[in-house]
Amino acid sequence: MNETKRLAIVGGGPAGLMAAMIAAKAGVSVEVFERKASVGRKFLIAGRGGLNLTHADPRELFRSRYGAEAPFVGPWLVRFDGDDAREFAAELGIETFVGSSGRVFPKDMKAAPMLRHWVQRLREMGVRFHVRHELRQLARTDQGSVSLEFDHEGETVHHETKAVILALGGASWPQLGSDGSFVSWLSALAPITPWQSANCGFDVPWSPAFRTRMAGTPLKPIRLSLAEAGGDSSLQGECVVCDYGLEGSLVYTLSRPIREQINRNGYATLVFDLVPSLSADRLESLWGRQDTKRSVAERLRRVPGLDAAKIDLVFECIKNFGVPAASLPGALKALPVRLERARPIAEAISSAGGVAAEGLDDGLMLKSFPGLFCAGEMLDWEAPTGGYLLTASMASGVVAAEAACDYLGRPV
Ligand SMILES: Cc1cc2nc3c(=O)[nH]c(=O)nc-3n(C[C@H](O)[C@H](O)[C@H](O)COP(=O)(O)OP(=O)(O)OC[C@H]3O[C@@H](n4cnc5c(N)ncnc54)[C@H](O)[C@@H]3O)c2cc1C
Repeated sequence: MNETKRLAIVGGGPAGLMAAMIAAKAGVSVEVFERKASVGRKFLIAGRGGLNLTHADPRELFRSRYGAEAPFVGPWLVRFDGDDAREFAAELGIETFVGSSGRVFPKDMKAAPMLRHWVQRLREMGVRFHVRHELRQLARTDQGSVSLEFDHEGETVHHETKAVILALGGASWPQLGSDGSFVSWLSALAPITPWQSANCGFDVPWSPAFRTRMAGTPLKPIRLSLAEAGGDSSLQGECVVCDYGLEGSLVYTLSRPIREQINRNGYATLVFDLVPSLSADRLESLWGRQDTKRSVAERLRRVPGLDAAKIDLVFECIKNFGVPAASLPGALKALPVRLERARPIAEAISSAGGVAAEGLDDGLMLKSFPGLFCAGEMLDWEAPTGGYLLTASMASGVVAAEAACDYLGRPV
């Protein structure tokens, strides 16, 4: 293989492995370096409760899931979208299906078979893997190449190449390999937005008794909105009371605006509609017909859709958070709960922050360092769960690999 057609990819997650696939298909000699003993550890964990590979949303809606970063991520999705993710899985022999919520999963729900076929296909195409290689530093050589310095089982190993794709992941679940520590050396070359937790739970100052009694209890169905959010930003679904506060799918989906409100005000107020199937008028009329000699608890038990867990939450808010009992029944449709802080990034499903768009060109190459590309969750974008994280990670791998191939002089 011609020396100028060599590409090093550092990080063996879905972004790096997708980049390796594209570059290898284009005939480039690819070497993948990974700090752990095997690649794709976060991908495997993502498959633990069923691998949500992508989503069947229509194109515009899909793009909108990336919120403020949609202009950054959108062009990657033009190159590789949810349909492409499903086609790619099929290419690896993995059949997928669309679940009732539009989420796309492999038929067997697992990540391991897909990862196994993916790595096997890459090996067949000549991609070489170097595991237990942790990138510590990189520099430009006098000849214009990139010199990479790795720690390999306590020894320093150097590798020189013309182009490099970094796919080092975000900062959540650091035990799986991506810990965001690249910031310490990459920030000299690129603007980097500080890490924050995304798709995470939040601390709530529950009373000790409520915490002990309710940890692990789901609240469903409920409708949640954020105080101050404006418009109809409420979402229906479920969340879970946990010993530190609240977690679960609805809270993860709202984690970005919740986090932003906490950053602005020092706390966020999540407003619970505990009886989403009852209109406010219907609730008033049902409540008004109740015998006022009955206790509040008894009257609450007679409201359709209000189970024991929801009633427990109402009393917690009255006793502990100062919600006036006189605000019932209206408070059942607008019960405020104060969220104090996001859980640490190590516990979050994903991270916000990373290499900022303004430091990159359209091919995800660092403007300050030609030949050095970035892909995946290490870039500054975020998205809710639903397959949007994996899709954008792979899509950015495609974009970076195509641009790297161009850079090496072999148009894709
Ligand atoms: C519990 C959990 C469940 C999830 N479920 C889903 C889901 O169902 N659907 C979905 O879309 N997303 C899901 N995600 C998110 C998804 O897994 C990530 O967004 C995705 O893996 C990011 O891909 P990546 O390639 O950018 O980074 P990663 O997958 O994190 O890969 C980065 C790789 O780089 C390596 N690396 C880091 N630093 C170095 C270094 N200095 N030298 C060498 N190698 C290095 C790491 O070891 C790692 O292997 C989940 C995440 C978690 C934690």
